[in-house]
Amino acid sequence: MAQAAGESKAPAGVAGAEDTDVLGVGVSSSCYGSIERGTPLAVRCAMLAFDIPAITGAVALIGTQMGMSVRGALVLAMGAGFGVGLMIAWSMIIAPSRKLARDRKRLIDRIARVSEVERDAQLDGLLAIDEKHELAPLAKAVHGALTRAHQHRLAASRLKREMDARVRDTARKQTAQLSRLSVTDELTGLLNRRGFTVRSAEMFGASVVGKAELSVIALDLDKFKQLNDTAGHAAGDKALQVLGELIRAHIRDGDIAGRLGGDEFVVLMPEAGSTAAAHAAERLQRMYAAHPAGRDLPWPGISAGVASRVEHGAKTMDELRHLADEALYLAKRSGRGRVTKAQGGGGDAGRTAA
Ligand code: GH3
Ligand code: MG
Repeated sequence: MAQAAGESKAPAGVAGAEDTDVLGVGVSSSCYGSIERGTPLAVRCAMLAFDIPAITGAVALIGTQMGMSVRGALVLAMGAGFGVGLMIAWSMIIAPSRKLARDRKRLIDRIARVSEVERDAQLDGLLAIDEKHELAPLAKAVHGALTRAHQHRLAASRLKREMDARVRDTARKQTAQLSRLSVTDELTGLLNRRGFTVRSAEMFGASVVGKAELSVIALDLDKFKQLNDTAGHAAGDKALQVLGELIRAHIRDGDIAGRLGGDEFVVLMPEAGSTAAAHAAERLQRMYAAHPAGRDLPWPGISAGVASRVEHGAKTMDELRHLADEALYLAKRSGRGRVTKAQGGGGDAGRTAA
């Protein structure tokens, strides 16, 4: 370091030291510079301020040895010291701080980029920085924080996707269940009046297009009220459920069946004529009569009316149903427990089956 200005002699052997009253400024351990007495204080201060010990001392000595005036040598030494000082300041302070500023900016840019990365992008390496770099701990800390935030974001969006899927699934199931319930008879599981009306209209249309026969059986329990009155409403419910189960178990694929209300049931059989439909109704009568649930009870019989679209010339599903209801009414009037075909039409229409 520079030695404070003071009275000291230059060591022996230093050129120009003998004839100069030396103040001993600007010295380092290896180089000595000298300033004449009378050199203005401002110059001395400047010399001191820009004392780069080895350089200024050496330059001052070289200057005086080359025959320069002391003042000229001092000015030259000051200039050299100033230049070297600038270089030192540049290389030790300005350049590193500029590099640091650049690195910091780059890091901030990367952080900004990382925070915008897509949900599934990999963070690894995005903030990679030289381990020894001054900003490495900061980069590591930010990287850690961003990674954790990113992982939380991933987990949250995964959770949201799962919840959305579950909500959609539940909504879909509930909608399906509601729409099923809206067309289903709760007691028997058959179609209710609304469901049967919709489906039967579609099937009637299809049979017209396909020029195929379509038969309907209208069924009603005989003296059902009596069962309710003597054995109770629960027994009556059971009698309705048993008929529902038998119908469901014995209709063919493609047939549909419904409970239209009370003890009134209906079966629609595509591509079946009135005889096949009447046989199906008779089979139901027999199975129902033999069902164990009816033992020891005033178990009702079944009356049925059958009508067929082509055979009986029905133009609409309502008309076909009406023909079957009339046949059922006829069966009731004829003593119940019978299967009756609709009046009119060709073939064997109007036959009383039981
Ligand atoms: P019929 O031979 O002339 O048909 O005589 P019926 O006694 O069966 O007379 P009807 O078909 O008119 O009687 C229907 C009865 O069914 C009337 C009602 O009390 C009863 N009922 C209607 N819905 C239910 C139900 O969900 N459960 C029970 N247990 N009974 C019902
Ligand atoms: Mg009845």
